[in-house]
Amino acid sequence: GAPRRAPEGQLDPELVLKLDREHVWHPYGPMPGMRDPLVVASAAGATLTLADGRELVDGMSSWWAAIHGYRHPVLDAAAVDQLGRMSHVMFGGLTHEPAVRLARTLVEITPPGLEHVFLADSGSVSVEVAIKMCLQYWRSVGRPAKQRLLTWRGGYHGDTFHPMSVCDPEGGMHHLWGGVLPRQVFAPIPPVEFAQSYVDDLAATLAECADEVAAIIVEPVVQGAGGMRFHDPAYLRALRELCDTHDVLLVFDEIATGFGRTGELFAADHAGVTPDVMCLGKALTGGYLTLAATLCTTRVAQGISRGAVPVLAHGPTFMGNPLACAVASASIELLLAAPWRATVAGISAGLRAGLEPARRLPGVLDVRVLGAIGVIQLDHEVEMAAATAAAVDAGVWLRPFRDLIYAMPPYVVTQSELERITDAMVAAAKACPPKHLVNQVSRREG
Ligand code: PMP
Repeated sequence: GAPRRAPEGQLDPELVLKLDREHVWHPYGPMPGMRDPLVVASAAGATLTLADGRELVDGMSSWWAAIHGYRHPVLDAAAVDQLGRMSHVMFGGLTHEPAVRLARTLVEITPPGLEHVFLADSGSVSVEVAIKMCLQYWRSVGRPAKQRLLTWRGGYHGDTFHPMSVCDPEGGMHHLWGGVLPRQVFAPIPPVEFAQSYVDDLAATLAECADEVAAIIVEPVVQGAGGMRFHDPAYLRALRELCDTHDVLLVFDEIATGFGRTGELFAADHAGVTPDVMCLGKALTGGYLTLAATLCTTRVAQGISRGAVPVLAHGPTFMGNPLACAVASASIELLLAAPWRATVAGISAGLRAGLEPARRLPGVLDVRVLGAIGVIQLDHEVEMAAATAAAVDAGVWLRPFRDLIYAMPPYVVTQSELERITDAMVAAAKACPPKHLVNQVSRREG
């Protein structure tokens, strides 16, 4: 439709686009901006309302975060209530109930043994903190050679430098930053099904370098931004055993998987494994505010505290932000008070049923669903603009990338909204037909 006039005091959408293009960086974006982003004016429930009045069902939960949807009355109230006290104070030398209450809750709901919480301000920083904890632990206990990290390929842990070093080496960052990133140890991507031979190979790799390795860091059960791959939780138990055998710490990055997304509250719960360090973010505040957490065991905390430098030297300005902490506590309370397991199972069933037709499309390599995550994988790159446009035409917000068309909707999504999402995913796949139709059938069946 024709662009609406901007309400009093707001910029005209055309001007927003112009200024955006001239001045504002976007994720993995060029400057000046190349494609016009959609201007979003407001959001409520599972719906994004654009400045031109169009409404889109949100298939992305703002990248795993907005599990309760937008403008949830309980979360709005928690934010307003906390604003009435303080939105932020420094955390050096001061503490407050919102941070302490949240930390206590996180200790209670995460795997047993994680006792200490660092409240960071973004996922990448929480991974930085996790890595710093591990490296400092080994320095502190007199084994300073253990400073490398082992991970499997296909991972994604954030865009700051140390997290980048454990992202998939084929993922586009390593070749750009050759010589700058710390050199880590990479194992192959784990097979979907549990394979003892994979674990044996990993054991052999670790045995060779354990004297240099501080920690194994992985995304448990779901590799997200690195490829939307799933694997058998039994690998997590194998990792725990390997780490214990070789005196290596285990870090789970649950920034994407946390808070019910995979069908368990945390992906580690699928395997009953406690890592030494765990990162949370994204859905921690129900996607309302920027907050992340790094939890560790008493062993790690005490190791650090007994070292020559007996403090964890990290302290961001917005550490423990009370506004974010208050909303996080409200979001967790809201989740746990709801039948979230049944809700996620229902979304799972809806995704499975709705994505079934995609299996028969030419060029579709795989269709997979885990918890409230649905993925169509093509055997070729998506055409991002065409795929996104097809979804938007179907009234849905998706962000296809590489060979993937995927969704992880807010848990408040209705049955009919979910159907729109799966229909839009199928439409997006149709909008990206394979360049060569030869061999499609055999490849799909292989
Ligand atoms: N780890 C994982 C598994 C993630 O999915 C992300 C975000 N996509 C991050 C770390 C980085 O978090 P942030 O974008 O908040 O820095």
